[in-house]
Amino acid sequence: MTFDAATLSVPLADPADDSAWRNGWSMPAPLSVDGWADRHRFLTREGAAEPGPWRTDRVPFTREIMQCLSDEHPCKKVALCKSTQTAGTEVLNNFVGYGIDHSPGPMMVVMPTEKLAQRWSKQRLKTMIQSCLVLHGKIQPATARDGGNTTLMKEFPGGLLVIAGANSASDLRSMPARRVLCDEVDEYLLDLEGQGAPDELAERRASTFTRRKVFKVSSPKLKATSVIWREFLAGDQRHYHVPCPHCGTLQPLDIDQLLPNGTYLCADGGCGRIIEEHHKPDMLADAAMGGTARWVAAKPDGEFPSFHINALYAPLGLGYTWAEIAAMRDAAQNDPGKLVIFTNTILGLPFEGERQQQNAHELEARAEQGLHRGIVPRGFYVLTVGIDCQQDRFACHVIAWGRGERGFVVDYEEIDGDPSQQDGYTKLEAWLKRHYVSHRGQVMIPQAVAMDAGNWGEEVVKFLRRQGTLMHHQVHRVLQVDGTLQQQVLFAVRGRSTTTDTRVVYRPAKTEANNRGKTLARAVGVWGVGTAPAKDILFGRMSADARAEDIAHRMLRWPGGREPTGPEDHAAEATRMPAGYFPGIASEYKDLATGRYLKHNRSTRNEALDTLVYAYWAALSPAVRIDLKREHEWAALEARYDPEADLFGGGDADAPSPPMPAVSRETSVVVTVPPSAPKPGRGTPPAGRGFGSDGWSGRL
Ligand SMILES: [Zn+2]
Repeated sequence: MTFDAATLSVPLADPADDSAWRNGWSMPAPLSVDGWADRHRFLTREGAAEPGPWRTDRVPFTREIMQCLSDEHPCKKVALCKSTQTAGTEVLNNFVGYGIDHSPGPMMVVMPTEKLAQRWSKQRLKTMIQSCLVLHGKIQPATARDGGNTTLMKEFPGGLLVIAGANSASDLRSMPARRVLCDEVDEYLLDLEGQGAPDELAERRASTFTRRKVFKVSSPKLKATSVIWREFLAGDQRHYHVPCPHCGTLQPLDIDQLLPNGTYLCADGGCGRIIEEHHKPDMLADAAMGGTARWVAAKPDGEFPSFHINALYAPLGLGYTWAEIAAMRDAAQNDPGKLVIFTNTILGLPFEGERQQQNAHELEARAEQGLHRGIVPRGFYVLTVGIDCQQDRFACHVIAWGRGERGFVVDYEEIDGDPSQQDGYTKLEAWLKRHYVSHRGQVMIPQAVAMDAGNWGEEVVKFLRRQGTLMHHQVHRVLQVDGTLQQQVLFAVRGRSTTTDTRVVYRPAKTEANNRGKTLARAVGVWGVGTAPAKDILFGRMSADARAEDIAHRMLRWPGGREPTGPEDHAAEATRMPAGYFPGIASEYKDLATGRYLKHNRSTRNEALDTLVYAYWAALSPAVRIDLKREHEWAALEARYDPEADLFGGGDADAPSPPMPAVSRETSVVVTVPPSAPKPGRGTPPAGRGFGSDGWSGRL
């Protein structure tokens, strides 16, 4: 029997009008994440640089990523390793909207911390729900009365969205989820309470679902520990290839082809013509737009789709221009701190430590003649001290700090004394009240002292308590300096031996015991030193300093003293660092397999390095927090110690450093040239939007 439409009295639908189909059939038509976003997503002024309906055509390289995230695609995992300003976060948001509206099910979004999870929910998610009609009807606003909806939990027909912080094991265990989305995975702790990496804990929530999707997205950080880089390498490693407007050759956009003036050199040897940035919109167009750009997998047999995108692809008007990127590359050449940020956030590449050890001779060669031990040079305003206890002596390191956590070693001394006897501290007690002088002769004292209480804890604590008043596990005292009163804070500290530490400063534990099992005087807590992260940071800075062409950009500097005037001039020696000091700084190396720092040679003393770590700890301690000092605070210190520099607007030729952003501890841990490090260029100086501006760390 055949079907004859003519015998039926129903009007046939207009083929151009498919509403009857859509109304009459309950089976949803296949819709990809990008298709959903193009149909339903609206970007508001608060949430986006370019408000209006979402158009995948505006960021064509996101199309394939979103197609892989769609139900119709068989993959179970997608990784996106990206620079900032390349729409990665919007891809994640689109995936969330699709998972609420089109294909509901249990879903978990993981942010680095619970605080960031709250913020994402209150800002990004809320804005998206309010501005998308289809979502608006499905999720009730979070109110105290409605138990089903809170900031971190959203119910919708057919599913549930939980927003978790990667710092909370209980959050990550909260429920099974068919979709798990991990944002900024390189900001997560490496290990959560001994239970493993947070992104892996989250991923396990999806393991029982056959139609699961796990999406990990981040800018990368350190190569050795980068989660997103490891995932990118495990995947099929796709790069977006775009055609040269002149010869048509498909090629990935590579920083090495970017010229200092912001134009781009075609990588095809036979062409080699200049590509201007206004060609970019046509170049980015993919097949869906009639163009030829496409993703190409470098490792087609990879386990799942993985994508890499850098800031050169940012659509015109949505990110830094090529000229701005060229200027940033130029500025990063001689500044290790900027190079780390440039590599992570502009190139979207992890930073690699090529050396995990220091060379004593190279460090010594960096000591600067004309700067004398004991004298604080221009640009350094805050003194801290680290003290290590040995059986017959105390090793003491004095560091001066300036903007951007830049350090200058003022002094290193070993003082006789027996830490096991209270009368063994007499010389140390006098030494601690020493004054230092600035290059202009002003008197300075250390603001914070961190003293090792690992082996002689009880005695060290007793000694510190005698020096002042105990408050909040810190000993405070006021010293008279040059007619004024200045505060000094002393801390008892102990190095932590774990390799999973992520911070330098740890607060005292509630109960403390020394290594002989005896409980210490309760009131003076012993603060923890994250030794491995501190050494990572300091070694990373020393390695990076090897490439700093301008001394003022170095992160750690030493006095080189003066040449002796003759054989009888023994005083010259006291103006330089003492013998054995630099071998002490370089006495350890990092074993990459275990993450531990080990001594090169059992007999070399490592107190110079240990005390450098303690002095750095003191600088980050609650008494100082150089990492949080704001520019106006530095400017006030500068006005006090370098008034003439202030007169001329902050610096003449030998001023140590212009205002710099503080180098984040996370990004500066291990430092060296990345695989496709920028080559030195002769660009124009950075324009208004530079490293210091807010836009630098902004995301699309
Ligand atoms: Zn070409």
